[in-house]
Amino acid sequence: MSSQLEKRIGENLAEVEGRIAEAAMRSGRRPGDVRLVAVTKYVGIELIEPLLACGCRTLGESRPQQLWPKAEALAGRDIAWHMIGPLQRNKVRRTLPLVEMVHSADSLRLVETIDRIAEELQLRARLLLEVNTSGDQAKHGLAAAQLEESLPRLAEYRNVEVCGLMCMAGLDSGPEETRKEFAELRQTRDRLRLCCPGGAALDELSMGMSGDYEIAIEEGATIVRVGSALFEGVLE
Ligand SMILES: *Cc1c(COP(=O)(O)O)cnc(C)c1O
Repeated sequence: MSSQLEKRIGENLAEVEGRIAEAAMRSGRRPGDVRLVAVTKYVGIELIEPLLACGCRTLGESRPQQLWPKAEALAGRDIAWHMIGPLQRNKVRRTLPLVEMVHSADSLRLVETIDRIAEELQLRARLLLEVNTSGDQAKHGLAAAQLEESLPRLAEYRNVEVCGLMCMAGLDSGPEETRKEFAELRQTRDRLRLCCPGGAALDELSMGMSGDYEIAIEEGATIVRVGSALFEGVLE
């Protein structure tokens, strides 16, 4: 591992953190109000180490099969893993004990499975509900309209805590369209708070990736998931 690469990753991280702080201030919040999930799906342990050395503590993976070996190799380190991609129901049991949060609860069946397995494992699973704001058929997620109906039921599950909502911008969306989609996630959250007050606090909004995290923060993101911007100049 060349120190050149480590240095570059440190610089990338500082740049991203600086931009996060500025976007937070523009939206009238403090830099500490927005949490960075460093997405490590492109790299192995050797390139995760420099992130940890720079103080990064929250890491995200989008595939359970990639999360498992990394989390196991780094067990005992001060890391909060976030599962940010599709979680198949048969992978819940092995994934739950390793993660602080699942961002991508995209069906009621999945939430039900997570609740059941969390009970067996005697843990409380923290979840975000993935909402399909782009209307893109290929994208995972619940339709916003479906949520009003579902949320009161989800609140009855005793072993899951629904902490908020997550979305991904449409693949073909330009900056203005992306901003609208992020605003829509925030509005959906605000509406759900009114219609289902006992349902869940829904404090967290996970939205924004390397190409659009500043827009996401301006629209209220509390968590951004950034991968490639952290590894610029490092991956070929
Ligand atoms: C890969 C991925 C990211 C990070 O994407 P970048 O554009 O590399 O920052 C964020 N969220 C999810 C769900 C992902 O799969």
